Amino acid sequence: MNSEPEYIQRLRLRMVEQQIMRRGIDNQRVIEAMSRVPRHEFLPGEPVENAYQDGAVVVGHGQTCSQPYVVAYMTSWCDPHPTDRALEIGTGSGYQAAVLAEICREVVTIERIEPLAETARRRLSSLGYQNVRVECRDGYEGCPEGAPFDIIVITAAAAEVPPPLFQQLGDDGRLIVPLGRGPQRITRFTRQFGTLYRENGLDVRFVPFVSEHQDTGHEDHEW
Ligand code: SAH
Repeated sequence: MNSEPEYIQRLRLRMVEQQIMRRGIDNQRVIEAMSRVPRHEFLPGEPVENAYQDGAVVVGHGQTCSQPYVVAYMTSWCDPHPTDRALEIGTGSGYQAAVLAEICREVVTIERIEPLAETARRRLSSLGYQNVRVECRDGYEGCPEGAPFDIIVITAAAAEVPPPLFQQLGDDGRLIVPLGRGPQRITRFTRQFGTLYRENGLDVRFVPFVSEHQDTGHEDHEW
């Protein structure tokens, strides 16, 4: 990103310092990745400043790109490593996929809304992310042909984790999801020696996971 104006780099570094590091995120890989990914490129309809503000941003089709802190929180909870293969459900703008792609070996991201998938695919490719594949379909079934994954991130709120996604989580794998109807809590599942462990984290508000396989109970959501 050498051609990027300096003031945009400053906005981004300020975002990382004030919204992420100051709030206790200390995963160096995540800090570096979020210092590099040009978030404003994923939110082209917005003034550049809005992309780096402390909040979620609407990306059209009733969907949002999550607040930077929430992306940092979820990504550091994934504890991503350079050898990892990651699956994201809910591509949206493609921003979270880019953050993962900065760190991981390979990322598959699935989006159900065709225009969002297509835009994210073009954007990620033009920004040079060659290790991300965007697929357009219902993410409920995950990506069986790509399994097992070290990381699975669901970036839409689900009442429960689709069982196929648990099956695609490898040993030592981490699955992060905003769980719940109405109020949601970021939840981490880790698989160790075949057993799944569950931990509860931050309270959040995500757009709903929408699937013909699952009643999310979110029909009256306000996004
Ligand atoms: N990670 C995104 C934000 C996600 S918003 C970003 O960085 O911008 C949640 C996204 O999940 C929306 O785009 C929505 O269309 C998608 N989604 C919801 N249910 C889905 C499903 N069953 N399969 C795939 N995508 C889904």
